[in-house]
Amino acid sequence: MLDDLIAVIDQFETQIAGINGGRQALIDRAEVASAFVFACRHHADQKRQSGHEFITHPVGVARICVGMSLDTATLCAALLHDTVEDTSASLAEIDEAFSPGVSKLVDGVTKLTEITFESRDERQAENYRKMMVAMAKDVRVILIKLADRLHNMRTLNSLPKQKQIAKSRETLEIYAPLAHRLGIHAIKWELEDLAFATLHPRKYSEIKHLVAQQRAERDTYVDEAGGFLSEELKKVGIDAEIAGRAKHFYSIYTKMTKKGREFNEIFDLTAMRVIVGSVKDCYGAIGVIHSLWKPPARALQGLRRHAQSEHVPGAPHDGDRSGRQAARDPDPHGRDAPPG
Ligand code: MN
Repeated sequence: MLDDLIAVIDQFETQIAGINGGRQALIDRAEVASAFVFACRHHADQKRQSGHEFITHPVGVARICVGMSLDTATLCAALLHDTVEDTSASLAEIDEAFSPGVSKLVDGVTKLTEITFESRDERQAENYRKMMVAMAKDVRVILIKLADRLHNMRTLNSLPKQKQIAKSRETLEIYAPLAHRLGIHAIKWELEDLAFATLHPRKYSEIKHLVAQQRAERDTYVDEAGGFLSEELKKVGIDAEIAGRAKHFYSIYTKMTKKGREFNEIFDLTAMRVIVGSVKDCYGAIGVIHSLWKPPARALQGLRRHAQSEHVPGAPHDGDRSGRQAARDPDPHGRDAPPG
């Protein structure tokens, strides 16, 4: 299991080195390994509801943290995040065995785990999210908590049905909006789809099926439009990385329910992501895109606001931590989704 985790770290570092030209602080494998051994020792007699060894959970959480490009202290804290809460281990022990930041992170996660959220009220949910952010002090605590929730959602099936529903609601009300606010969209989407699948299994499989049916058509469209856009951007000297992305299921569902549309009335099932090297290129790319596909005034306003508020150099965007900028493709059919 440790070998797997280290392999994931190796693979991720190679990938990042390719993007950053090798400018990447390396993860201290020895410290990660000792956190793993510490967690194994303390969780030794514990099993998860599924019957799996408990240690599969902290390792799963650490793997998700590797994907967010987090540092050694955070990976160690991810491995140790349930030891103080659920085992005989104490913070003092962790403080002694690991570098100084680790026990602070574990303490932060433990404190967040202790507070429970029960209200169904949106305003209460907002207060609760604020409280979490304020309590965490260090954003890495929230990131571990999000990874913790994501791993629990991925393994939700072994819990009793009532618990599955409660966890899924809490995920939609608290954790997905937090991930959204931090700009970690990959995690937000997965959390939402996992919760959606539990809360509305029939709707979920219906939408999944409909999306799958149109997949080939969509891929062809993205290939063609993406190739065309890439040519046009090259003409004005902008190097861009273009990828299509399918809308996730939950966002299709909310569009259908909130706006009362049928599936075949939702035209923007596909979006393109355009990643460029600088803020200047980002605005340049938006200009080119708008000259090719004319956006309606309403969508344009939203896009500008979005560009001003979110395209800050170095801010995480769609899980992209290298400070590169992403320009959104305004929907060619004139029904651009709200930012996010
Ligand atoms: Mn946990």
